[in-house]
Order: sequence, then structure tokens, then C-alpha cells
Amino acid sequence: MSERSRKLYERACRYMPGGVSRNTVLRQPHPLYAMRGAGCRVTDIEGTVRLDFANNMASLIHGHAHPYITEVVTRQLQRGTAFTLATEQEVEFAAFLVERVAAFDKLRFVNSGTEAVMSCLKAARAFTGRSQIAKAEGAYHGLYDYAEVSQMSNPSNWGDPENPASTPVARGTPPAALDDVVIIPFNDPERAVSILDKHQDKLACVLLDPLPHRVGMIPATTKFVRAIREWCTEHGALLIFDEVITFRTAHGGAQEHYECRADLTALGKMIGGGFPIGAIAGRDSVMGVMDPTVKPLLFPHSGTFSANPVSMVAGHAAMQMYDANAVDRLNMLGALVREQITEAIAVSGLPACVTGGGSMFRIHFKDKPPTDYRSNYASPVELQQRETLLDYLFDHGIMMINTASGTLSTAMTETEIDTLAETILAALRAVKESLPRAAAAGPEA
Ligand code: PMP
Repeated sequence: MSERSRKLYERACRYMPGGVSRNTVLRQPHPLYAMRGAGCRVTDIEGTVRLDFANNMASLIHGHAHPYITEVVTRQLQRGTAFTLATEQEVEFAAFLVERVAAFDKLRFVNSGTEAVMSCLKAARAFTGRSQIAKAEGAYHGLYDYAEVSQMSNPSNWGDPENPASTPVARGTPPAALDDVVIIPFNDPERAVSILDKHQDKLACVLLDPLPHRVGMIPATTKFVRAIREWCTEHGALLIFDEVITFRTAHGGAQEHYECRADLTALGKMIGGGFPIGAIAGRDSVMGVMDPTVKPLLFPHSGTFSANPVSMVAGHAAMQMYDANAVDRLNMLGALVREQITEAIAVSGLPACVTGGGSMFRIHFKDKPPTDYRSNYASPVELQQRETLLDYLFDHGIMMINTASGTLSTAMTETEIDTLAETILAALRAVKESLPRAAAAGPEA
């Protein structure tokens, strides 16, 4: 059935490590290859059509090949794709985003979420003159050495919960990077504040994702966010929100839920309308560290493809269409999907649960929702169950993110949600049938 993909993968392995440029697309025994996408459906090169709940890792807020985005991009392609000049498109899109969010006085575009987070951290260091950053254990913030610390901590190295260890992701990470990253437990304000207190003179910022996918897709509590906001204000550190994913959850981003302002916000994914993008936005005085007309320039900041007009017009069109009504509608669908999955879980009788927020969800093979990275950590049995679930869904026309997470696009309606819930129920039954095999997988690592 997937002969073409298998052959393509064999060829790919000759030219790319592991045969891919991003680990996310790897599947056993080989990845599948996309032919085309339209709305909420993707067709692979074998001709199989699937409902897409992965949406290029939460970046396609309007699904695939939206006609209006296609139209503005086509027009821009004919005019040129990158110049050593500024463009009107960049000014208009920056103005649009700054007008949209109260915490944004100024904004700069970059090319990815990784770059946006990195730029935020460097801006915070430049503004405060301090080198350390703090982040929540297990939270994913992209590939920058500092931002990825502790992202893959495990029971053998994560240390005491009162003082979580700073663990590297890539071999050869400079020890200095680990020394400069302070790890706090997610949603535990008392412990977090007491850890931050120990580093108060050295911390430039606290980096926070208000609904961190890898921590379990659990919303940050108001108490936690407020405690961190207050701590930062009191100690002259900056609060940075990573809203690369969560910007979709409210018209003004997830920070709107907490009625507090971040000093800096990293954006990415959906604001590119399907094209590579990132942005860093925030308080005028802090963003000023990047202003080359001010001497001395504290943080020189550049990027060859930053604010390229294709990403600008695509992103601007996407965000115009993702207005307050569209956000509300998608969040309602999100609530519906979490409700329907919860029902499917109850019918299946499996110990499982669903977390998420806004237009996103994540399924866990745990009887109650995790509360932080450590309680989210999956045992081999849970991992086996997740794999069975995802394989079943994939074989029955549903694409999800490999953590058993899904994100919605505005191309979806209740019909697709019903299809998802029905297929998940059938998949959970398949998981239940596979249980003896899964249970044999052994004790927790
Ligand atoms: N921050 C968060 C919260 C993310 O989810 C991601 C990507 N999954 C990033 C940053 C990095 O974004 P990118 O892959 O565009 O570099």
C-alpha cells in the first residue's frame, strides 16, 4: 500500500540523517509523504486522505491552502520574495499585531519560534545586564541551548523537586549554559518562588509557556502566573511569555486569561499563515535594546529572511481572518472535542484522560490529568498505549501530533469533531484489546 513512500524513504536515508529534516515526521517503518492539502484534509502520495489534527504542529490555523492566503501569496510571489529593503507589508503586519495586544508596544519579526524565544532571552539579558534565565521543567521552547535545558529530563537525572536539575538535551551542551538556566516546577508557585529567590540578583527573566504541550498541555494556574509576574516585578527580572502555540487561545493571546502583561512575548507558528515566521513583541523600553538608532546598541539583531514579504502577507491575511469571532468559534469546538473525548474514554473504561485548552487537546493514558512534567512523564506501558492509539487513528484516516495531541483549524466543523470522537472511541477499544501486550512491556523507566 505504501510502496512509493517506502522507496522514497530509502532514497531519503542516503541524503539526510534518519532520512528526514525534522524528527517530527518520522514514523515506523517509514514516514509518509504529503502530496497536497486542502482545508482540514491531507492527501499523501499513495492517495490516502486523512483528517489533519496536527496542522503542521499547530501552525495552520486555517488548515491547508486557504484560498485567500493562496491569493495574497501568489500576488506577492510575482512581485518578489525577499529584498535588501524594508517592505510596506512588514510595517502593516507589525502595526496589526501591536494594535491587537495590549502588552505589545513594539514588535520585530524573525523566522521561527526558536529564533523568537532566543531573541527574547537575549533582549532580556541585554535589558537587565544579567545572564541567567529561569524556565519550567520539561517545557519546550525550541532549540536554543538555554531554552532547551531540562526539556527532556527523566527520573534518573531530574533531581530533587525542591531544586530540579538543569539537564542538557544535546551532547556537548556547554556547562555554562546549564549553569545559567534555573529550573522551576510548573504550577507550583511556592516552590518556584523559593527557587527564584536563590538566584534573584542573577536572573534576567522567567520564560513561561502558559499551556506547555510537553509538560502535559496543562493550563498554568492564575496563582502560578501571578506569583511569577509579581516576583519578576519585585526583583527587576522580565516575564517572557512563549506564545508560539498559545497565541491562538484568545484574541490577545493566552496572557489575556491572566489579566497580566508579559514584558516580552515570543510568537511563531500560526502568525505566519503557513509560512516560516517568528516574532518578538513587548514593552517599548525593553524592545528598545534592539533599536540600532540608539547608542550604545545593546542587542544587535538581524536575520536574512526576517520579515520576508511572503510570510508577512500570508501571516497578515491569516491573522485578519482569525478575528475575535473565529477565536471564539474555534475555542468552542475545542471545548466540544475535549468533552467528546472524555465521553469516549468513559465508554471505553480505560484509565485515560484529556487535557488542553482553547483549540487544543492531549490524550493521556493516566486515570487523572497530570499536574506537572513529572506526573506527566509516561511509563513504557503508557507509551505503548499511545502508539497503539496513534497507529489506529492514522490507519483510520486521522492525523495527530505524536504526543497524542491535536489542534483544530478554522476549516473544521462539528462534523470533523464527531468523526474524531468516534474514531478515538474505536481506537481506545483497540488499545484495551492490546493491554496484555502493553502490560508486558515492563515497569516504568
Ligand atoms: N516554543 C513553543 C512553545 C513551541 O511549541 C515551539 C515549536 N514546537 C517553539 C517554541 C519553536 O518553534 P519553531 O519550531 O518554529 O522553531
